[in-house]
Amino acid sequence: MASALTDKLSRLVKEMRGQARITESNVQDMLREVRMALLEADVALPVVRDFIARVKEKALGQEVLGSLKPGQTLVSIVNKELAATMGEGVADINLQAQPPAVILMAGLQGAGKTTTTAKLAKHLIERRKKKVLTVSGDVYRPAAIEQLKTVTQQAGAEWFPSTPDQKPLDIANAALDYAKRHYFDVLLVDTAGRLAIDEVLMTEIQQLHSALKPVETLFVVDAMQGQDAINTAKAFKEALPLTGIVLTKLDGDSRGGAALSVRQITGAPIKFAGVSEKLDGLEVFDAERHAQRVLGMGDIVALVEQVSKGVDMEAAQKMAEKIKSGDGFDLNDFLGQLQQMKQMGGLSTLMDKLPSELAGKAGKVDMDKAEREVRRKEGIICSMTPYERAKPEFIKATRKKRIAAGAGVQVQEVNRLLNEFGQMQQMMKKMKGGGLMKMMKKMGG
Ligand code: GDP
Repeated sequence: MASALTDKLSRLVKEMRGQARITESNVQDMLREVRMALLEADVALPVVRDFIARVKEKALGQEVLGSLKPGQTLVSIVNKELAATMGEGVADINLQAQPPAVILMAGLQGAGKTTTTAKLAKHLIERRKKKVLTVSGDVYRPAAIEQLKTVTQQAGAEWFPSTPDQKPLDIANAALDYAKRHYFDVLLVDTAGRLAIDEVLMTEIQQLHSALKPVETLFVVDAMQGQDAINTAKAFKEALPLTGIVLTKLDGDSRGGAALSVRQITGAPIKFAGVSEKLDGLEVFDAERHAQRVLGMGDIVALVEQVSKGVDMEAAQKMAEKIKSGDGFDLNDFLGQLQQMKQMGGLSTLMDKLPSELAGKAGKVDMDKAEREVRRKEGIICSMTPYERAKPEFIKATRKKRIAAGAGVQVQEVNRLLNEFGQMQQMMKKMKGGGLMKMMKKMGG
């Protein structure tokens, strides 16, 4: 969990106080924690090694500037290096070509190519006012062609028909010809993927690349793929001159370590992030925000700011405890309850214990989704300081942004959690000595 790393790092930052420069010995512990965190976030081992080596080289012997302490300096080096490794600035889609600008989509089956093709079509239509045509070269799965047709129509783009008895190269050439004659600005070419990388398929996509001369060759990769992403990325990089990466399913549980691996292996910039199954779930990739998600560094960066402003965290914590009135239910309690709930076997186990009449109703709820929701809530609360958890009503907009970044969510989600919590507090008051656990135990019978 991100918070565990944050706790460790905060402790190390404190221990390193009073030391004047970063040295081999005081940097060691901290880098070990960072290394563990990267591995936990599913960054591939060789990539982690390189990263740690770079940070160490940058950190060692570095003068600690101004009032900053070595620990703080190191935190900021790690954070910056992480963001820099994943790309600096915003890498937008390149359309600089004689129209139509061709965009070739590559990646494994299930990575999200078809969905991303439609998302991209929507993005280009709405944001860049382009006339967009899509075509599917996936002649191995008729359902894939149909799927592209459906989502293309939803995106408001035009779909070029293809059938499973055609050759992908013929399909692509026909689509290109049509796009030229009908003055399309962009042609998006969806391709077949396999569950594992397959030579025939790689040759096929290479041929498509030679014929179409795409201005963008986007490698679509599932953020949940974890350690394996590195092998997929290698294979695609060897086969094709990749110009960009789309990291999909970042709305899932993954800490998104694949971003670091894939970016390092391919050298191509991460251009977009897929954040939902829906067609508006495509975001321009933000390396800095993602760096904080990978390391769970949101808090530590905030902490560094607080420390440098002279706020004593221990005192703040004691204060928070004092402020918390005897029977007041705050976000610390809420967090405790979420964690207790996890220990009890998660939501689905609790649901099993429900009386059948209630469970029937609850059965309609998507349990996986509900559990993910609980984990996200936990992530958000963990990104708050103890004081903020005790007094959530005092959380300012700038801190909300930090908390959101730390938890890897949108700021709206932080707001939603705070609203829900406010309502819950009201309910608690009415329930006299209630509390979530009691309520749940009652339901469990
Ligand atoms: P393809 O085989 O590479 O074309 O993959 P698809 O586009 O068919 O996507 C595979 C599955 O992943 C589908 O169920 C999509 O709805 C889902 N998917 C794609 N992108 C995202 C995303 O960003 N977030 C989520 N949650 N699901 C996604």
